[in-house]
Amino acid sequence: MRTEIASLGEFGLIDHLTEGLTLTNSSSQYGVGDDAAVLSYKADKQILVTTDLLMEGVHFDLTYFPLKHLGYKAAIVNFSDIYAMNGTPRQITVSLALSKRFSVEDMETFYAGIRLACEEYHVDIVGGDTTSSLTGFAISITCIGEADKESLVYRNGARNTDLICVSGDLGAAYMGLQLLEREKSVMKGANDIQPDFTGKEYLLERQLKPEARKDIIEELASAGIKPTAMIDVSDGLSSELMHLCKQSQTGCRVYEEHIPIDFQTAVMAEEFNMNLTTCAMNGGEDYELLFTVPIADHEKVSEMKSIRIIGHITKPELGCALVTRDGQEFELKAQGWNPLSEKDEK
Ligand SMILES: [Mg+2]
Repeated sequence: MRTEIASLGEFGLIDHLTEGLTLTNSSSQYGVGDDAAVLSYKADKQILVTTDLLMEGVHFDLTYFPLKHLGYKAAIVNFSDIYAMNGTPRQITVSLALSKRFSVEDMETFYAGIRLACEEYHVDIVGGDTTSSLTGFAISITCIGEADKESLVYRNGARNTDLICVSGDLGAAYMGLQLLEREKSVMKGANDIQPDFTGKEYLLERQLKPEARKDIIEELASAGIKPTAMIDVSDGLSSELMHLCKQSQTGCRVYEEHIPIDFQTAVMAEEFNMNLTTCAMNGGEDYELLFTVPIADHEKVSEMKSIRIIGHITKPELGCALVTRDGQEFELKAQGWNPLSEKDEK
C-alpha cells in the first residue's frame, strides 16, 4: 500500500507520525502540538544540546539502509554525543525534508525506528518539522540532555600521564559499510540473488543498528570513575584522539596491539585486502566512548570488562602517535570521513 504524503499534507503527516507519543521524562513539560515544546529542568542541572544533519547520498544510501534502521541510527548518534559529555539525553526534535518518492508508509517505518530508539533510551520526542525536498531525504535531529555541573566531562581535560581508554571494539561498522557497498555493486541487475551475510552479522549490526554506550556511562559512575576527558568515536579513533589532544593541549601514544578489534572485522579486512589497524583507526561510526582517566584509576578501569586501555597522554611536544607492534611510531593523521575536504582535493 502506498499513501501519498500530499493526501495528508504537512500538518496531517506530523499529526500522524506523532500520534500516541507519551512523555516519560519529568523535564518534558509539553511536547508536540504548540508553537514550541516546554522543558523544565531543575535549577542545578546543566543543559546539553547537540544536533546532527544527515543527507541522503552523502551520509546514507537507501538502497541497502532500511528506513527503520536509519531512524534508529539517526537518533542514536545524537544520544551518543550527550553520553560523551557524561550526560543523559532527555528530548529530541526531529526535522525531515522529503521528496515525492516517499510515502506515508515509508515515514511510518522511519519514525518507528526513531520511536524504538527513544523508548530504549528513555528519550521523549518533543517536536520537529517536515518539509518537502526536491532531491532526496534529509534528517536533522536535535537532542537535549542534562548533567550535573560536577559530572560534565569535556574534551579538554586530559593531562600528561593519563590513561587512554576505549569501550567496545573498533572498525566493525566501517567493515559493515564496505560489505554493504560490495553487495550493492554485485547486486546491480540481479535482483533475485540474495546476498549471504552468514558470519558477518556483527558487522552489519554495527553499521545498521549501532547503540550508544549508556551502559559505559553508568558503569563508570558506579565504579566511581570520572574521566578527565571524553569524546565519542564517530569519525574514527585517529581523528577523535587528535581532537581530544588538541583541546587538552597534550600529545598521546596509542599502541596498535591494544586496539580492540572483533574477529569478524579482522576476517573481513583480510577478505578485502585492507590493513586492519587502518580500518580500526580511521573507520568511524563506531559510537564507542574514548576517554582518559588519571593513572590512579588504572586498577578500576582494568576491571571493567568492555574497556580497553590503549595508551597514554603525553606532553604536547611529543605529538600524537601510534606505536606499532614492532615499536615504530607513526604520527596520527585524521583521515576522518569528511566529504567537503575530499571534494576540495579532486
Ligand atoms: Mg561526538
